[in-house]
Amino acid sequence: MLDQEIIGKLKTILGSDYVSDAAEELFIYSRDQGVQDPHMPDCVVMPGSAPEVQEIIRLAMQKKIPVVPMGGGLLLSGLTVPLKGGIVLDMKRMNRIIEINERSHYAVVEAGTSQGMLDAYLRKHHPGLKHSLPDAPPSATIAGNIAIHGSGHLSQSEGGFHSEMVTGLEVVLPTGELVKFGSCSTVPAWFSRAPLPDLVGLFLGWNGTTGVITKVGIKLYPRPSLHDVMVFMTEDIDLAPMIISRIINTEVAEDINYALAPKPDYLNGFQMTVINVTANSEAEIKMKKQIIRDALHDFYETKEAGFMPVPPNMKAGFLEAPQKALSKFADVRKGGGFEYVGAIMPIEKIPEACRAGMEITARNRITYSLGARIIGRGHCAMFFFAYPFNRVDREEVERVKKALEDTNKTALQLGGIPWKAEVQGQQLILKQMEPETYRVMKKIRDVLDPAGIMNPGNWEVG
Ligand SMILES: Cc1cc2nc3c(=O)[nH]c(=O)nc-3n(C[C@H](O)[C@H](O)[C@H](O)COP(=O)(O)OP(=O)(O)OC[C@H]3O[C@@H](n4cnc5c(N)ncnc54)[C@H](O)[C@@H]3O)c2cc1C
Repeated sequence: MLDQEIIGKLKTILGSDYVSDAAEELFIYSRDQGVQDPHMPDCVVMPGSAPEVQEIIRLAMQKKIPVVPMGGGLLLSGLTVPLKGGIVLDMKRMNRIIEINERSHYAVVEAGTSQGMLDAYLRKHHPGLKHSLPDAPPSATIAGNIAIHGSGHLSQSEGGFHSEMVTGLEVVLPTGELVKFGSCSTVPAWFSRAPLPDLVGLFLGWNGTTGVITKVGIKLYPRPSLHDVMVFMTEDIDLAPMIISRIINTEVAEDINYALAPKPDYLNGFQMTVINVTANSEAEIKMKKQIIRDALHDFYETKEAGFMPVPPNMKAGFLEAPQKALSKFADVRKGGGFEYVGAIMPIEKIPEACRAGMEITARNRITYSLGARIIGRGHCAMFFFAYPFNRVDREEVERVKKALEDTNKTALQLGGIPWKAEVQGQQLILKQMEPETYRVMKKIRDVLDPAGIMNPGNWEVG
């Protein structure tokens, strides 16, 4: 528990409306929708500016109080749950869109800007441009997503993980300094991380353990006026890598997602590859779809697979970004529990990952949705093992916890790496990491965060 003197200082920095140690509010910040155990924060604050973040961090460093940065809190693996108490730094008030560069195709936003806000702003004011959207609910933030190497609907066609689309960052270091990284550090523009030494990576994939991101420069892409979807079905899991690779090689698909789930019944036993295509004219869409059909022609000639006609109501769902179907599936068991291990792995491992996922869920008596989003031009996939559950059913929660542990181990055995892993998953990764790499991580943590205040418990390198 923080003493009232510290709460008073926080209120002086932020105003009393934006500091709370009320039990009912701490309760909300003590958990997420996943299976990780709750931990109460001592206090929640909502800064409105980078200088306010600096003052909070300086106070926390001086008093050695843990600080957990939080965006939408939608990660499901407990990374914004304050494992050692302290202050949850809710960034949602810092949601200004600072710049849209129409010519150099980037946006600069404050860290608490949500995916939905940037998307809506672009649609209204810059309809020719878009950014890559994850399928997370729209209240997920740009900064929270890049801080864990998220991915989305342009990850296949436009350059990989969202962290790879970052052109620059402004960060409050755990020692309180406000620092810019990327071109914005040297000239007044946020177009690129090159040609400077790339320090942006010190804050990407670190789960908020190296500093508080206050501004993000993120790449924008043309928004073609037309959008269509094709669905390729097969019963043979082993064909998946070949099918996906053929589609990638056409270079005309915007987004490629692979999925397999026991529900609805009529899809049980089939796998779907959902291919999104965009264009600026009907002729272009038609041509792109024909190129994809030609690339897969021999599969449907041999009757091993085929394109599914997509009825209009189903098509409307496939064309959504983010995919609302995912949020609906998250609540399929009712009771609001959802957990997924996204393992970043090579495309050729998809069949083994599918078999392992079905085996793990059968063993632990839970339901599943399995699938993959293709990242880069087939450079890897984010394979998701998704497990919805009823949070009230404690016995089911325990089975999902066990499935999570089995899945993390399996992902590593298959040659993949669990993404946005909860603390236990992070520890499995660190155990397998080259000792020299681990030591470098520790040195970086020690230098950046000498008081050990940033999201302690995560990426814990001892
Ligand atoms: C139904 C569903 C679908 C999903 N689909 C996708 C998907 O397609 N792609 C995808 O990538 N993810 C997906 N997710 C996972 C997750 O919701 C997203 O990655 C989301 O963008 C995370 O953003 P957030 O704002 O909720 O981050 P948070 O959960 O708030 O934070 C994530 C991490 O970043 C840190 N952090 C947050 N803000 C800052 C900051 N300003 N400075 C430093 N560190 C910070 C936190 O401490 C934490 O470690 C999905 C989740 C759900 C529930």
